[in-house]
Amino acid sequence: MTAAVPAAVPDEGETEQLRQQLAAAVDAARDAYRDTTRLIQVLDLLGRPAGSAELIGDMLNVLSDAFFADVVCMARVAGERLVVAASCGLPEDDPAYAQGWPVGEAARRTLATTEPTARHGTMPDDDAPGSVTGLGIRSAAWIPLSTEPYADTLLILFRSLDQPFAMSDLRMLTSVAARLQMALQERERHAVIEQLAHYGHLLARHLEVDPLLDEAAELLLRLTGADRAWVVTVEGGQGRLRAHRGLPPALLAAWPVPARSLDDLPACDAGLSEVLKVAVSRENGATALLYAGRERPRPFAQGTLEIMTIFANYLGVALTNAELYLALTDRATRDPLTRLANRSALVSHLDTLLSAADPTRIGVLFCDLDGFKSVNDLFGHEAGDELLMQVADRLRSSVRPDDLLARFGGDEFVIVLDRVKQLSEVAEIGARICADLDDRLVVCGEQVHVSASIGGVLGIRGEATPSTMLRDADAAMYVAKARGSGQVEVFDEDASHRSRDRLDLRAELLLARTRGQLHLAYQPIFALDSRAVVAFEALLRWTHPHHGTVPPDVFIPLAEETGAIVEIGQWVLAQACRQLAHWHRLPEGRGLGMSVNLSPVQLHQSQAAERTLDTIRTAGLHPADIWLEITEHSYLRHEVTEYAGALGAAGVHLVLDDFGTAYSNLSYLKRLPIEILKIDKSFVSGVTGPGGGQIDLSIVRAILAIADSLGLVAIAEGIETEDQRAALRALGCRLGQGYLLSRPLPAAQAGLLLRPQPQMPARAAQRGA
Ligand code: C2E
Ligand code: MG
Ligand code: MG
Repeated sequence: MTAAVPAAVPDEGETEQLRQQLAAAVDAARDAYRDTTRLIQVLDLLGRPAGSAELIGDMLNVLSDAFFADVVCMARVAGERLVVAASCGLPEDDPAYAQGWPVGEAARRTLATTEPTARHGTMPDDDAPGSVTGLGIRSAAWIPLSTEPYADTLLILFRSLDQPFAMSDLRMLTSVAARLQMALQERERHAVIEQLAHYGHLLARHLEVDPLLDEAAELLLRLTGADRAWVVTVEGGQGRLRAHRGLPPALLAAWPVPARSLDDLPACDAGLSEVLKVAVSRENGATALLYAGRERPRPFAQGTLEIMTIFANYLGVALTNAELYLALTDRATRDPLTRLANRSALVSHLDTLLSAADPTRIGVLFCDLDGFKSVNDLFGHEAGDELLMQVADRLRSSVRPDDLLARFGGDEFVIVLDRVKQLSEVAEIGARICADLDDRLVVCGEQVHVSASIGGVLGIRGEATPSTMLRDADAAMYVAKARGSGQVEVFDEDASHRSRDRLDLRAELLLARTRGQLHLAYQPIFALDSRAVVAFEALLRWTHPHHGTVPPDVFIPLAEETGAIVEIGQWVLAQACRQLAHWHRLPEGRGLGMSVNLSPVQLHQSQAAERTLDTIRTAGLHPADIWLEITEHSYLRHEVTEYAGALGAAGVHLVLDDFGTAYSNLSYLKRLPIEILKIDKSFVSGVTGPGGGQIDLSIVRAILAIADSLGLVAIAEGIETEDQRAALRALGCRLGQGYLLSRPLPAAQAGLLLRPQPQMPARAAQRGA
């Protein structure tokens, strides 16, 4: 058995040593525990989704508790002073926030070395804000918030506890500061990305390029925290400064610069420590460059270039949208052929001028080319377009820079004259434009004579409206055109009123047929010797609910202007054919002819001849039962020849109406298969007029001789007296119509005039018969 060895009893010294070791171990454990607790608190804070301000506030509180500090603050260098950005322990109105305090020795060293500094004992006055020195501070620590060069923010802890900041404290504080800085940067990035999305919206709302680029410069400055920002576009080898913020005026003079020097010489970087540049990429290559520059010896935050690139993408999309908008506006307001303002741009321009407060007046000139259709017909649409472009150029050089020139449609142009005093000015300008236009132009290798009919009006601001002015100018133009080509007519108030009535009628006429306001009257054409009715002339009547009977001389031209004549004319022919078919079924109506007036406008329609023959045949008639009256309109010769040829061949009789009133009628007679001439009533009324009617008598004699030599039948129009009838008979005229014999009558009354007929003379005169 071994004897137990009594334990060695430590002596006094050893006990003391052990006690100290134990105390140190307890201290170390407490420190470790405290540090761990502090770290957990800090990490917990950093992990929370709080915003930057809240995070800083909470962090300073935790540090104050954990490190027994009376005051903890975050302070930034501004010039030669430190200014508090956030604190725990300083009242909100402490001057340290607004004015700060001088950068002391400890702060300076910390900033320069980016190493933490600690002090213990009496503080030099200039190393703490005034309110803090009064607290009896015994120790303090200065921690750099980041270790990057040019870091300018410090975390500073002041405590009245007479205990120095240990090395382990400083290490821990440095680590906390770095983490805080990272967390703040992360939040800043988040905020920037949110801002970017918001700025993207701000950019997208600009539909015009200049305001867009201006906004881009402003947002770029804010996003990057730059001191200067500028936007350059590159076009045609030139870099143009389009928008900027913060550029000194002296630098602006350097622009534009050659595009190739943009790479090395941004022409705006004088005095800047760092310049960032990104290109705004577009589908068709980079068209813009964004620059951000910093003056201070402090670099851009990390990731700024990335942010600028994202921003440039937003700008690229916004620029594309702005261009699209421009193209759409252009299309909506310009005439694609001549590039002149179109009708809607004209109306809105006129509207703006008319609503301006200005004592002067506004003139409107309505120009319509003379004979444009024949250019189209003879030389083709390409030539027509070419002519319109040349005319647009002529007009452009004729108008004053302030006047608006617009293409109204087809061959119509409108000029808006701003600041006109009286109507005579409108007339003068109209005459000048008319003279400038009146010329020979070479169009697609062909010489074409151009002239225009121009109508003008004067409008009072606040009274006239675009539509009344355009309507009246249009009406004045028609009056000008009626006087011949290359004429100008201006309307004063009275004339405008008259034209207004006319235009109201024009609109109503479009509906007259469907409202049952149109009907036909029939004027008999007699054999002058036997007084037998050989045919009727169908004459259109319009009974207007307010104006009563509107004469055809008034409404036929209106129907021609609107094109309504095509449908109306077709209706007249069908109606007259039905009526004739009805009379043909009566024994006394056999062999009767029906004369129908045709407007030259009807001949514009394609297949006009086929439609005419169709109508005649549908009524159960033979083409030879119908006489079609054509009046001479020089600008329609081409169609008349074609149409007349086709109808003549089918057997329809062609009548040249109002013969003798137009100079070219004789040439018509040679070229068209005309069988009947109607001697105009102006000659007929003259055959027995004052002075024995010698002149008219000899004209009628000549007309009858021509008719005879060409084998044509002549009908005298407008016979009103027995003397006239006798004189015409004596001259050998066999057919006539007029009030003497019968006025135009409703169908029922006209039918009463019928009695068994001899063979129609016109048919005997049929060509080749
Ligand atoms: P127009 O074809 O020369 O028709 C003859 C015109 O002379 C008719 O006028 C007729 O009423 C009028 N008249 C007949 N006898 C006499 C007379 O003894 N003395 C006088 N002073 N006048 C007489 P209305 O019906 O007023 O027609 C005028 C013109 O309107 C016609 O002249 C014709 O060019 C046109 N018109 C009439 N109906 C139609 C139609 O259906 N289509 C087309 N395109 N034009 C028509
Ligand atoms: Mg007639
Ligand atoms: Mg006539």
